[in-house]
Amino acid sequence: MTTETEISGAAMSIMDSLVRPDRGGPEWLWRSGELVPWAEATIHVNAVGHASVAAVFEGIKAYLSHDGDRLLVFRLDEHLKRLYDSARIVRLDLPYGLGELRAAVLEVIAANRYREDVYLRPWAFPAGTIQEQMVPAGVRCEVVVDSWTFQSGLGTERGCRAAVSSWTRINESSMPPRVKAFSNYHNGRLAMIEARENGHDWPILLNERSKVSEGPGACIALVRDGVVITPSTTSGILESLTRETSLTLLRELGHEVVEREVDRTELYLADEVFFMGTGWEILPVTWVDGLQVGDGTAGGVTRALDAAYGAAVRGQSPQHADWLTEIPF
Ligand code: PMP
Repeated sequence: MTTETEISGAAMSIMDSLVRPDRGGPEWLWRSGELVPWAEATIHVNAVGHASVAAVFEGIKAYLSHDGDRLLVFRLDEHLKRLYDSARIVRLDLPYGLGELRAAVLEVIAANRYREDVYLRPWAFPAGTIQEQMVPAGVRCEVVVDSWTFQSGLGTERGCRAAVSSWTRINESSMPPRVKAFSNYHNGRLAMIEARENGHDWPILLNERSKVSEGPGACIALVRDGVVITPSTTSGILESLTRETSLTLLRELGHEVVEREVDRTELYLADEVFFMGTGWEILPVTWVDGLQVGDGTAGGVTRALDAAYGAAVRGQSPQHADWLTEIPF
C-alpha cells in the first residue's frame, strides 16, 4: 500500500511539471502570425493588468508515440475549437482561423524539434496597452502558442489526497466555468492554497448548489458499485476533453457511466475517485476529506482507464486514430 508521504510526493511532481516559474523556455514560440525567439517575445509592462483579465487559453498535449517515431497531438482541433468558444463568450475576436492556429501549433513543435512529450498552450489576449478598466468587446487580440516538455504520470503508481474546499466554484451567473479564462483560475488557486495549508494535495470545489463540480485543473468522477458517476456539464465545470475522452473509453470498457449532480457524501462512499484533465491525466484520489478511498491505492476502474487513455494518446488504439494529429520525425 502506498504511504501518505509517497502520495503527496506524486501530487507535488504534477505541480512541479505544470508550474515552473523559472523554466526558461524553448527556442521558439508562435506569436501573432510568426515564430519568434522565445526570449524576445516581450510586451510592455502596461499591457499586463486589466488586459490579462480577458485572456483565454488552451492546454494541449502531444505525446511521443509508443514506437517513438512520431509525436501525436491529442484532440488538437477540439482544443482549438474550445479556444474559439471561450473567446466568443468573453467577446474576443481571434484574428486567425482554426486552420492557421492548427498550423501554428504544428510549427511550434517542428521549430523546437521536440522528440518527447510536450505541452502546448495557445492563448489569446487583448493587444496593446489598454487604458480602460473594462476591456471592451472586439479589441485587437494577440495569439501566442507557447510550449514546454512534461513528464507523463500515465502508467505510474500514484494518487493524491483531496479535500472539499470552503471556496465555492465560480458559476454561470458570475464567471462561467465553461470559459477557459486565466481569470477563472483565481477561484481554483484560492482553493488549492487552502487545501495545501490543511495538508491535502488538491481541493474539490462544490458549486453554488453545494453539489460537486471539479478540481482546480481537472474534472472528477467516482465509481460506486461498478457505476462511474461524474458531475454533468452544467455543474460548474469546464467542458473537459479528457472527461469526454474518459467517458467514451469507460463505456468501451463496458462500464455504465452516469452524468448527474453529485453530492459531497457520495465521494465518501465511493469505491474509487479520480481526477481527469489534460495536465493531470488520470489522477487517482486516494483520500477525500481524510477518509481513505477504497484500499488507499488506485482502484481497478481507474487503472483500466489510465491504461486505455495511455494507449489512446500514444497511438495504440486504432479505433481512436481520429483523436490524433501525427507529426512524423
Ligand atoms: N477543469 C478545469 C478547471 C481545468 O483547468 C481543466 C484543464 N484544462 C479541466 C477541467 C480539464 O479539461 P481538459 O480535459 O480539456 O484538459
